[in-house]
Amino acid sequence: VQETVPKRRVAIIGGGLVGALAVLYFAKRGWQVSLFELREDLRVPENKKNLSHRSINLALSARGLSALKRISLGLDDKILEHVIHMKGRMIHLGEGKLKSQLYGVFGECIYSVEREILLELLLNTAATFTNVKMYFQHQFKRCNFDDGILEFENKKTGNPFQDSADLIIGADGAFSAVRTQLMRVVRMDYSQEYISHAYLELTIPPRVNDKGEEEFAMDPNHLHIWPRHSFMMIALPNRNKSFTCTLFMPFENFDALKTEDDLMEFFRKYYADSIPLIGEDQLKEGYFRNPRGSLMSIKCKPYHYKDRAVIIGDAAHCMVPFYGQGMNCGFQDVEMLNGIFEEYEILAVQSSDKLALALEEFTKRRHPDAIAICDLAMYNYIEMRSSVVKPWYLLRKRIEETLYWLFPTRSIAPLYTMVSFSTMRYSEAVQRWKRQGFLLNVIGVSILTTVTAASIWIGYYRFRRI
Ligand code: FAD
Repeated sequence: VQETVPKRRVAIIGGGLVGALAVLYFAKRGWQVSLFELREDLRVPENKKNLSHRSINLALSARGLSALKRISLGLDDKILEHVIHMKGRMIHLGEGKLKSQLYGVFGECIYSVEREILLELLLNTAATFTNVKMYFQHQFKRCNFDDGILEFENKKTGNPFQDSADLIIGADGAFSAVRTQLMRVVRMDYSQEYISHAYLELTIPPRVNDKGEEEFAMDPNHLHIWPRHSFMMIALPNRNKSFTCTLFMPFENFDALKTEDDLMEFFRKYYADSIPLIGEDQLKEGYFRNPRGSLMSIKCKPYHYKDRAVIIGDAAHCMVPFYGQGMNCGFQDVEMLNGIFEEYEILAVQSSDKLALALEEFTKRRHPDAIAICDLAMYNYIEMRSSVVKPWYLLRKRIEETLYWLFPTRSIAPLYTMVSFSTMRYSEAVQRWKRQGFLLNVIGVSILTTVTAASIWIGYYRFRRI
């Protein structure tokens, strides 16, 4: 029967990481998939030079890996061959002092992966499906959701292009045109917040050792952080033994560094140990040449329209990058949407089923999680640039980790562990973190009180003996 009934057509708008993964999930479910991407196909070598300077590498963690694994195409194993393990943060305290803070008490780690390699893997895999068509340099303009007509501009020829689909997936990023179209047909709550900080990427090249071989200039198995309270720099390793550094600070601080002398004075004061690693000339060139990116958080609801459209990834929930979860969360969206399709038995063949209910369920289930991780990402900026060197934070972290190490299946687990090393819903992680916060504060205060009382008593006892 299934052979005679036409297959459903899905149009996926946006061939970034999340859209490309969605292509695979729908293709595997047997839908007719069309992917429309504004940019050129990055798999073509001559297009690589046009790649923008935007977060060259990313931290992949449990949620992203789970979505890559769940589709059973071997994507998780393939990508793990190209990653670098990061087992903790390396804090650059100043004056060359370093402090390692491990992420997990059981040796868990996150993975540094190059955006281009991951995207290439997804697109190459998509190209192996006969039910997938990919259109690059096609900019989505507008659509009529009810009759499924989509309008594009072919950026190569400048000509308009039309297509139609039963379902439209908006994976077109933070400035989503699909979301704008959705706002015309649903009563969408929407908020957008720019933070006052911008980011700029620099490179630490490999260094050449005594044997003339290239090697990493710093420990590659850490995510390096230079926390400087109101701003910070981080560095993630690349497979070519370089590091991509990202400098985060307020726009006015960037604007204040007008000359090369200003820049060097600033770096000597705050990031002195990074100057020989980056190289003075490369630092000046990179700082004044590379673009500054702005950072924002977007929340909206609902994500869907009837049985016709749904938005995922940054199009649905853009977050600041400080928890390293934007892509991971977007991948989890795809995995969750697929899970809901299974629950509601949504078939690839056209039939009267519960697609509208399934999309509604996606909004209902995913929205609290998206809000939770958007807020946590904002919170983590303070933790990364400032808290990580504060004694109270370190004491609490130690207590939390010890309790988790002693009783891993009980209710106390470090927030970072719940977010980065589990696939637990973000909203549940936040609830657990709030619940355990009170207990940890009580234990922390008790330890501090005991230590203070003991110190006073020992001091008094020594004084009496004198
Ligand atoms: P995008 O990557 O933005 O892709 C959207 C795609 O849609 C693009 O290819 C675009 O060309 C295309 N498009 C846009 N408009 C149209 C249109 N009208 N028609 C057709 N196509 C269109 N996340 C992590 O998980 N870990 C990290 O360590 C991490 N680090 C980050 C560091 C920085 C500095 C930044 C800025 C982000 C970081 N992120 C990280 C977040 C991550 O980059 C995003 O969450 C992720 O790229 C979102 O993927 P997406 O596919 O939803 O959107």
